[in-house]
Amino acid sequence: MNLPLDVESFLKEVSSNYGDLKIIPKSSSNLMKAIGWLFTITKISPEFMTKYITIIGDTVYYPDDMLKNPDSESMLRVIAHETIHVADSKRFSNALFSFLYLFPQSLALLSVLSLLAFWKLSFIWCLLFLLCLAPIPAPFRYWFELRAYRVNLLFARKADNLTNEEIVSYYEWIEKQLCTSLYYWTWPFQSMVRKHLMDERTFEVEIYKKISNWIIIRRATKKIMDIHSETLKKLND
Ligand SMILES: [Zn+2]
Repeated sequence: MNLPLDVESFLKEVSSNYGDLKIIPKSSSNLMKAIGWLFTITKISPEFMTKYITIIGDTVYYPDDMLKNPDSESMLRVIAHETIHVADSKRFSNALFSFLYLFPQSLALLSVLSLLAFWKLSFIWCLLFLLCLAPIPAPFRYWFELRAYRVNLLFARKADNLTNEEIVSYYEWIEKQLCTSLYYWTWPFQSMVRKHLMDERTFEVEIYKKISNWIIIRRATKKIMDIHSETLKKLND
């Protein structure tokens, strides 16, 4: 499988410092095929296999067609965002990261305790944990996603050179992900999210600095290559 050069370079020079991120076609995974089949027959998401990128742990499952014809820039940003998640899951351990990411909804699992001693009435109380499945704000998921979406903002600033006015559409897009049903109402407090997104002091943290340096070097290399090919063209004319 041939990945775009920029993606290969990012994986090697940045992501590899934080974990082993893999990109594989969706059709090569039996789990993805099973979910795809379920989502098609239940009509939950018939385009699961063809339109959506799915991430589990350190593996990014790409729809086959998207992988055959990858959009280098958008793939790069997906991979950069995931690099933060992989780094966090390594820092906290996979199990704790998943539990915290899904908290408080993950507490619903404790309702299974009621099955362990169903003859005792007191265990019925364990069923109350099912209430955690409600769309209650998820502080850890918010914190993890905020850290990951900051990378998208970093690209918007350093690669796309967006101004304060131009970056607003990015804020709105991220707020749509975090404040609505898209991420199960992770943190439905839009003005607070905007305040956090606008705070770019965190770009000084090591992982963002590393990504930022990579973006700056890529820009400089591209510029040199452009000048080089322009000079060659002029010489040939
Ligand atoms: Zn994310």
